[in-house]
Amino acid sequence: MREFPKPKVVISKCIEFDSCRYNGQMIASDFVKSLAPYVDFMPVCPEVEIGLGVPRSSLRLVSSAEGGETRLIQPATGRDVTSVMQSFAAKFLDTLGEVDGFILKASSPSCGIKNTKAYPTAGKSAALSRSATGIFGASVLARHPDLAVEDEGRLRNPRVKEHFLAKLFTLARFREVERSGSMGELVRFQTENKMLLMAYHQNEERALGNIAANHDHRPFDEVVGDYGAHLRRAMCRAPRYTSNINVLMHILGYFKDRLSAAEKTMFLENIQRYRDGKITICPNTTLLKSWIARFEDDYLARQTFFEPYPQDLMEIDPVVSHKGRDLWK
Ligand code: SF4
Repeated sequence: MREFPKPKVVISKCIEFDSCRYNGQMIASDFVKSLAPYVDFMPVCPEVEIGLGVPRSSLRLVSSAEGGETRLIQPATGRDVTSVMQSFAAKFLDTLGEVDGFILKASSPSCGIKNTKAYPTAGKSAALSRSATGIFGASVLARHPDLAVEDEGRLRNPRVKEHFLAKLFTLARFREVERSGSMGELVRFQTENKMLLMAYHQNEERALGNIAANHDHRPFDEVVGDYGAHLRRAMCRAPRYTSNINVLMHILGYFKDRLSAAEKTMFLENIQRYRDGKITICPNTTLLKSWIARFEDDYLARQTFFEPYPQDLMEIDPVVSHKGRDLWK
């Protein structure tokens, strides 16, 4: 069983932690509940932190059609809290210390990272845009563009969740390597993540391999800084399905002379069905894992590609799982 470090995750406090929304309510999130044992959450409510009470009159983003700076306004009082929110965000992020990711409330004028409504005026008006960023969320994205940052709404999508978790736990593991000060740990990290990084970004994976090999005998701090920059670049986007297929075929290459024709055909048929979007990647990874166990390939068994985050967090849509509602009652 693989051991995972506990990533540090800043979370909007109104998600499962406190009834601090403008209307005194809390947001329920099964995902956040399931994640709680595996991460160190750091809850924060920026609106409460800047002195707005609970309950409070709601805020909205106001930006003119001609562009210009987006303001955070409390329409009921006419108060403009943009600067105070920006100052709070800067201070909070300055003093935060090490962090691996953020889970922020979707569509909030403070915490939203996208899909927040912006209005032309503080008064009664239709939204100008539905793709604005909240003021605190904008500071997070500007300060930490390379970390695992998502909103709780998008995390309901399994593909968004998969990428978020893989990135979050990989960055947390890398932070351990940074702390270790050990070149051996960096090489081990690169070795165990090789297939995962190939799936994410083949060119960056090659660059990472060269950096970790450290042919120029540079000091650890220099190497690990360089490696971290490339790692974050490699993981900035989720792997494409074609890259996943390249990795699956690459791993098949380790066994192809030891498999029967029927086994290879079954695998290749599954690859085609995955390419056609008829199945997930799971049947293929399961087949590969069974061959890794049968041929006792220790190098492949340690690849994080097969388990980039704790298995308990891997789940299928409850609607299609046998745990879903009994449809025959
Ligand atoms: S969205 Fe952010 S500011 Fe609004 S209640 Fe939640 S934590 Fe507080």
